[in-house]
Amino acid sequence: MGIKKDYGDGIRYKWRCNKRNYKCPARVTQIDTEFFLDEPHSCQPDPSLRVSVPIYAQAKKAAIENVFKPASEIVEPLTYSSYKKLSKKSRHYIPKVSNVVQSTNRARASLRPATPKSVHFEFSRKHLPKGFVKKPIDWTDSKGVDQRIVILTTKRQLKKLARAKRWEVDATFDVVSDPFYQLFGIHTSVRKGAQVKSIPLVSYVLQDKDCLH
Ligand SMILES: [Zn+2]
Repeated sequence: MGIKKDYGDGIRYKWRCNKRNYKCPARVTQIDTEFFLDEPHSCQPDPSLRVSVPIYAQAKKAAIENVFKPASEIVEPLTYSSYKKLSKKSRHYIPKVSNVVQSTNRARASLRPATPKSVHFEFSRKHLPKGFVKKPIDWTDSKGVDQRIVILTTKRQLKKLARAKRWEVDATFDVVSDPFYQLFGIHTSVRKGAQVKSIPLVSYVLQDKDCLH
């Protein structure tokens, strides 16, 4: 169903069936939390919705409860458990993992605080993982411009940094948005058998290309 009329009072809405190509006349009036059927459906119910809607809903709920868990780690077990539960015939109604992940991330993004417009912002503690050190350094540069560097790390990462034989540094730009310019990171490599993995230890969110001295 989609909204046909919004009375603008946050209480009353008229809904109509979205299956326009069936010319379905279904209409529902909503008053607060009550729904009144004006016209019933003439369209055929979509059997895929019985499978996909609960998956999307459960993924969204879990994502909101576990803000720091990657959406794919929530969605994959959900789709796998419906695969096991469903009959062979219903299995092809299971939505693509990538579609559910995308919709889950969108639902979660709306809960995050807005991107700051300037360097003068407060940290929202509940949106940072526990034990995360998020030290801002503020100063005014020689041109009179307010500057801020945000340092992101944990105590455990700092211990690793102190013990690491080798530090590797790099900068990325596309994960950072205004008013910041780059994410500068110190990493170390961990070797296990033939595998080498780069572990981020400290990240600096910087405003300028060259303000890290
Ligand atoms: Zn309908």
